[in-house]
Amino acid sequence: MRRAIVLGIILGTGIVVAALGTSAQQAPPAGREGGQGRGGGRGPGFPPVSAPEKVANNLYMIPGQGGNTAAFITDNGVVLVDTKLANNGQAILDQVKTVTSKPVTHIINTHTHGDHTGSNDFFPASVEIVTQENTAANMKKMPAFQEEAKKHGLPDRTFKDKMTLLKGNDAIDLYYYGAAHTNGDAFVVFRNLRVMHAGDAFANKGQPLIDTNNGGSGVAYPETLKKAAGIKNVDTVITGHSTVMKWQDFVDYGEFNRLFLEHAKASLAAGKTAEQAMADLKLPEKFKGYNIAGGRGGPGGNFNAIFAELQKK
Ligand SMILES: [Zn+2]
Repeated sequence: MRRAIVLGIILGTGIVVAALGTSAQQAPPAGREGGQGRGGGRGPGFPPVSAPEKVANNLYMIPGQGGNTAAFITDNGVVLVDTKLANNGQAILDQVKTVTSKPVTHIINTHTHGDHTGSNDFFPASVEIVTQENTAANMKKMPAFQEEAKKHGLPDRTFKDKMTLLKGNDAIDLYYYGAAHTNGDAFVVFRNLRVMHAGDAFANKGQPLIDTNNGGSGVAYPETLKKAAGIKNVDTVITGHSTVMKWQDFVDYGEFNRLFLEHAKASLAAGKTAEQAMADLKLPEKFKGYNIAGGRGGPGGNFNAIFAELQKK
């Protein structure tokens, strides 16, 4: 069990980086997972799309082939959150069909990355696609959506700070609190189920990927998560690439990012390099399960990206 969790975290890390490919400013981590799945589509290093895991009544998580997909069965159909890498639409639909015969009516993308939006175009144009407005702008620039035949995979409807989709028991609250992983990370709350999909703002328990090319910010990250931690009445969190977690894990993740930023500021002021900052990062006991080593941006981790951001100010 322990090994499975660790493997999941490692794969999750690799998937995000691989999906960003060469467009990411940060160097991919050393090690074999950095090269998996390049070029989009199904890569041999990615776990296949697997059976839905029940998260709550009428809510399932479908793992594999990119970010975790949520499938929420409403009165009138199925709302999907994130559609994995390209060419996985049929696999997602096959899994949805094991739990309901209702059609997919909506897709919410938590952010722009190809491992979360890749199979949007599999679904018919009648499916309403919803994202935060910055994510819509980011998606329009993606090579994957330039082809005319794929443009119906772009968002139909956007929100700026908050929006509620559907009503009554089906209500889904969408929140945006500023830059973190990208500049368009939506927090998707299934209101009556007290469950949130956090996307890659909380991909796993480790250093987040800060995609500065898509407006991500290591300086804003802790503040954004702190604001999101103010969301009320959520017990359970679907992560971008890891297992389902508790609300407290999400709150703690905000604290982790705050401590990381504070250490970055202190290290920079002391004239240390990113590698030195990484080497003497000390975290409270509760973060001991985090996968810090071998994470982002080589031996300096996220300190490279955060230093660059701090020095620009
Ligand atoms: Zn991502």
